[in-house]
Amino acid sequence: MTSPTHTPSKTILVVEDDPGIARLLRDYLERAGYAVVAAADGDNALIAAGAHRPDLVILDLGLPGRDGLDVTRALRRAGDVPIIVVTARGEESDRIVGLELGADDYVVKPFSPKELVARVRAVFRRTEARQEPAETIRIADLEIDVSRMRVAIAGRAAELTATEFQLLLALAREPGRVFTRGQLLDALHGVAFESYERAIDAHVKNIRRKIEPVPGAPRYLRTVYGVGYRFAEA
Ligand code: CA
Repeated sequence: MTSPTHTPSKTILVVEDDPGIARLLRDYLERAGYAVVAAADGDNALIAAGAHRPDLVILDLGLPGRDGLDVTRALRRAGDVPIIVVTARGEESDRIVGLELGADDYVVKPFSPKELVARVRAVFRRTEARQEPAETIRIADLEIDVSRMRVAIAGRAAELTATEFQLLLALAREPGRVFTRGQLLDALHGVAFESYERAIDAHVKNIRRKIEPVPGAPRYLRTVYGVGYRFAEA
């Protein structure tokens, strides 16, 4: 593997109405080698997205005028550009709605610009990996044989039900991505009979019992408090 450099030609649209934060983000992203386009409200965000075709959008949800969630919706209707939403502390429901609308990740204010740049890189890694589905997924001691629907942990087979397998696969296919319970229910479409988000928690508990070395302190299937679940990246 080469060092984690990025393609210099990538353009990021930063949508932020606070000029200080916008400037800070531009500095850090440009220093990381990205080209930056900025917009200070929702309408200009959509105009800039149409004009510049960014490779990723960083979108503050607390915007004057057109609501950030509305912008998320409009961006999703127009295509599959990766979106990282930015929310203020305490705006948990916005975060969840943003993810459900198709945002790829979120950060909570106040955040460190360094952390945001790391998230940007991680989202690019994931969206690039999405294009080449692996037949076998290996993360640390966990091995998922996709076509045979088999799971092994440290070389020993784990017996998962079809529902548990689909759930694990959805999470493990995109390590690091946060899924809400609603999104995990969608991933089970055609498999699950229960239509309650609580059912996801029950399945997660069962999967942990089967694959986690220490189910009470999960190594792989992590809880994202107040939002949902995420699979460990390595
Ligand atoms: Ca704002």
